[in-house]
Amino acid sequence: MMKKKIIVAIADGLGDRPNRELGNLTPLQYATTPHLDFLAAKGSTGLMDPIAPGITVGTDMGHIVLFGHDSTKYPGRGPIEAAGVGLDLIEGDIAFRCNFATYDGSVIIDRRAGRIRKGTEDLAKALNNMQIDDVVFKFKEATEHRAVLVMRGEGLSAQVSDSDPKAPNDGKPYNEVYPLDDTPEAKKTADILNKFLQKAYCQLKYHPVNIDRVAQGNLAANFIITRGAGRMTQIPHLGDELGFSCSVIAGEDTVLGVARLSGYTAIQHKNFTGNVDTDVALKAKLALRELETNDIVFVHMKATDVKGHDNDPKGKAVAIEKFDEMVGYILPHLPQDAIVALCADHSTPCEKGEHSGEPVPVVMSGAGILADSVQTYDEEACGKGRLNRLTGHQFIWSLLDYLEVVPKQGN
Ligand SMILES: [Zn+2]
Repeated sequence: MMKKKIIVAIADGLGDRPNRELGNLTPLQYATTPHLDFLAAKGSTGLMDPIAPGITVGTDMGHIVLFGHDSTKYPGRGPIEAAGVGLDLIEGDIAFRCNFATYDGSVIIDRRAGRIRKGTEDLAKALNNMQIDDVVFKFKEATEHRAVLVMRGEGLSAQVSDSDPKAPNDGKPYNEVYPLDDTPEAKKTADILNKFLQKAYCQLKYHPVNIDRVAQGNLAANFIITRGAGRMTQIPHLGDELGFSCSVIAGEDTVLGVARLSGYTAIQHKNFTGNVDTDVALKAKLALRELETNDIVFVHMKATDVKGHDNDPKGKAVAIEKFDEMVGYILPHLPQDAIVALCADHSTPCEKGEHSGEPVPVVMSGAGILADSVQTYDEEACGKGRLNRLTGHQFIWSLLDYLEVVPKQGN
């Protein structure tokens, strides 16, 4: 029997609740989604809990699960963000999420350095590869005022506090980093990181980018604040272990970071904006191209989650229609024996404006997959499907089984 090929389309934060603004429909029920409904009508549907019912997950953890891993393999946000911006991590590295901030020598004036957009690449270069004692610092800019920091050396620990004073604490001093346990590793990490923060301030204070910014009346990006320390631990490379190849197409660094740590090919493009104006035709085209040389391709869209956070149910319905459009570009060009799956990493109900622990609707559809009686893709209809209610791990491994890579139990 021929091995199948699989495309998994992920609408971030898709799941929702009945919303008064939409006549008590969910955004997915309200939106017009002919392609998603077509797949639901022809395939098996169900409801998926990323980890377990009622357990809320972040996009990072949601994708750890969707990319086939056990949730215990979660390495922490720092390493995921570092991998997301393309820093190569090795076992034992300590990674942090950072902001460029504005510091006047005693207090943080702005935690986001006036939401700086330009020049962070040059500023980051001034800090990258700095060495203090036996620790080397890797530093790279991310979107806007965000950046990532990696400490590499012997005897380091992620058990250190945040230097970020957290919103809304502009106008207060930054927090000295202190060890969170009694180990010499945590003490060493905190001591050296505190030295780095001061040294970075000296480097950035008179950097030409900041001299220009101040001359133009902007806030200087002259300080680094850190949070979310995580120790890099290797995530299993499932593709190598089981024998399949995988590619992930996304605009969001977090998703790309989990993909890279998983050993999958991560594909990004400047037209992937992380919002409703993202280039869905290009996403579809790249997904089909990647499917030619890979067994499984994940294609991710962020806008659905963004609109959930914005408490914008009508906007979320528009984002869902863009997701439908993307799937519509893919369907006519699929190879024979292809399977298309629809899912999400978690729910982001508009009325809450945050992630929730509710399940998300899922579909698997294509050659060899039984249809159930469900005709539309939404939270209510998929609750009647033949996949019933399953975990993210069960859903993804059911798909991997169609690649004929999941080892048989027993004899
Ligand atoms: Zn998400």
